[in-house]
Amino acid sequence: MAHSQINPLLIQMLTGKDAGESPTRSALPGAYVREIFRNKEQLSPIYEKNHHMFTCKSCSRKGKYDVGILSVNSEEVVKDGDTQKHIQMTGYFRCKHCNEAGNWELPNSILISIMVGSLPLLGGSESNPNVSFGKNQLFDGTSHQYATDAEEHLLQILKESPGDAYIWNRLGNLYQKGNRPELGVSVFEHSVRLDPKQVESHYTLGDMLAQIEDFPNAGYHFRQMLLHAREYKRLPAEKLRDMLAIGLRELFIMSDHTDGEVSILPTPEELEASAQQEIQPGPIVGMEMEVFPDDVETFYPLAEIFMGLRAKEIPLRERTLNVPKVSKAPVKKKKKKRKRRK
Ligand SMILES: [Zn+2]
Repeated sequence: MAHSQINPLLIQMLTGKDAGESPTRSALPGAYVREIFRNKEQLSPIYEKNHHMFTCKSCSRKGKYDVGILSVNSEEVVKDGDTQKHIQMTGYFRCKHCNEAGNWELPNSILISIMVGSLPLLGGSESNPNVSFGKNQLFDGTSHQYATDAEEHLLQILKESPGDAYIWNRLGNLYQKGNRPELGVSVFEHSVRLDPKQVESHYTLGDMLAQIEDFPNAGYHFRQMLLHAREYKRLPAEKLRDMLAIGLRELFIMSDHTDGEVSILPTPEELEASAQQEIQPGPIVGMEMEVFPDDVETFYPLAEIFMGLRAKEIPLRERTLNVPKVSKAPVKKKKKKRKRRK
């Protein structure tokens, strides 16, 4: 039977239990793991399928694996002439026969796709979306050949600080980009269990659940993102605003789809539970804003309200919310703002 391609160390760190050399998917904790896996096809693809035949050096058996996006660090290749060493892959895969990771014989088909992919640089016409040039780095500046190498690196950091929800979020992103959403969702859930204010994990949970049309749970996570945004320091202010604006747009669309059953703004119970009493939905509701789902920037003013003081980090000319203070009185209706174009 083929292995589920899950790192035993991951399960051990998520559950505190030993799940053997080759854990199955049922060992993954989390409330959404099953529904995400079952509806995997509904998630928008991270990259186009990119299968190659690899030989595992540990068990000598062959298998076809989805390698994701190939990144070539051409600068390094020029330096030492070793193309193989400087190819990175975003797809998360382990040997389906022995569950070993990263011990591969690189197939020629990879080198050929890279050569074909580099033709546009040489004046060719077809560009290959699965080949890119440059270097993938983790948040700490380290660089790894296989997604399983990067995973191992993050798990070692987590061994030292298992309660660091931000690192768990980074690990979740790695699985998600590696086209293993069931691993990603389990890790994101773990991340918000450790820290209910992990805004980026709430965002991605909301996004994944919205895509598989689990609107009530998607709504919950997007609203948690809004509630804790003002305290979140791990993102630059403008990126935070972009994320909030996209989340708000999703909430707006889901509310529309469900005839208001999915609340756009945090509910009184959610406000109370999060102890964020200073965000009163009153003045927000009182403000009249024109929002258009196909123009995410129309959600910026609302996003800035949820950012609290963090909105002040955005350069004044880039800010959209021009009320000096959020007052109790409803803000007068404003004309739709001119669109900013970069
Ligand atoms: Zn093997």
